[in-house]
Amino acid sequence: MSYKPANKIQDLQYFGEFGGVNPSISDSSTYTFLSAKTMFDTFEGDADGCYLYSRHSTPSNLYLGEALAAMEDTETANVAASGMGAITPVLLQLCEAGDHVVSSRTIYGGTYAFLKNFAPRLGISTSFVDITNLEKVEAAITPQTKVLYCESVSNPLLEIADLDALSALSRKHNLKLVVDNTFSPLSITPVKHGADVVVHSLTKFINGSSDTVGGVVCGSQEFIDQLRNVNDGASMLLGSTMDSLRASSVLKNLRTLHIRMKQHSYNATYLATKFQADGLRTVYPGLTSHPSHEVFKRMMNEEYGFGGMLTIDVGSLDKANALMELMQERNLGYLAVSLGFYKTLFSAPGTSTSSEIPEDEQAEMGLTDGLIRFSVGLDNDIERTYQEMKKCMEAVGVFEAVAV
Ligand SMILES: *Cc1c(COP(=O)(O)O)cnc(C)c1O
Repeated sequence: MSYKPANKIQDLQYFGEFGGVNPSISDSSTYTFLSAKTMFDTFEGDADGCYLYSRHSTPSNLYLGEALAAMEDTETANVAASGMGAITPVLLQLCEAGDHVVSSRTIYGGTYAFLKNFAPRLGISTSFVDITNLEKVEAAITPQTKVLYCESVSNPLLEIADLDALSALSRKHNLKLVVDNTFSPLSITPVKHGADVVVHSLTKFINGSSDTVGGVVCGSQEFIDQLRNVNDGASMLLGSTMDSLRASSVLKNLRTLHIRMKQHSYNATYLATKFQADGLRTVYPGLTSHPSHEVFKRMMNEEYGFGGMLTIDVGSLDKANALMELMQERNLGYLAVSLGFYKTLFSAPGTSTSSEIPEDEQAEMGLTDGLIRFSVGLDNDIERTYQEMKKCMEAVGVFEAVAV
């Protein structure tokens, strides 16, 4: 039977302090103790269930973390103020000066910039590899390697990481497999395929209303305790804490994630199939033409689909820009970065979200100028959207470019 992470979220039961159907929001930065001894024990990390100070934990943040841990099937989770605020402490907790990371080369621009430009200042080096080429991944591993890092569905090229194969490699070489699952919540459950730590930017599909940034680390109790340790925990000490008010609002949005993901997937499948039939170079994991279609299918929790992200290549940056501006003018979506919104969002990754990646490296990884990334929205009438998008493509001469 296939794994149903949305059931795990549904099965959680919360009662508010006054019997409310939503848990009460904890509106305090600090907490009282009835005895001084308990305060001491809490600092030492041995007073379970006691709150100390809100950078460490809050009831609202724990509720959200519990729901996300249930979704990802990990023991527990720690929420953060942003996706980067979740990712960077994980890497800094797992690596110290002299250590090495093997990372997919097609990852979120901010993570790439952190590993490439910032982590070396702390003596942590990274080899960037084609994550779909397992021989290259293994060849990059050195005795100093501590972490194998990838996105289950990569940004922006939608490459699929074969997590079963990568986790076998990470076991063999005693590494931690850290997986960013931002593009495929519910569809892929990385720990079911051997991931040790799963991170998300909650900013995207999980929150889904483009009104906040947020992040989460899902992992073992032992690892999350390390991150939150008051003496040497990277999450605690770097201070990227989510506010309780925000945690409660993200939790409410999380409850509709399964309905939204099904609609995002349905709409993206519709558009990708039509775009491809029109002769556009279309990348969508749900298309059999996708090089890793079978890998995604093997890993996926079927009912949530192949996700809401697709790319097309319209031949040049000028055409991409003209098309995006026209689609926005005709209210088919917004020319904006980010993803997971109810409206379709489109951007040209080479000049926006992946601009941290140098041009020659972009070319090598297949990130072309004419590439447009779509986060397909929740449109009720996707057929009408498609017809209107096609008119925009004809108006800016997309099909002429593809023909030559
Ligand atoms: C947006 C994003 C991040 C960073 O998250 P923030 O919430 O913006 O800090 C990390 N990974 C992926 C795949 C993303 O799309």
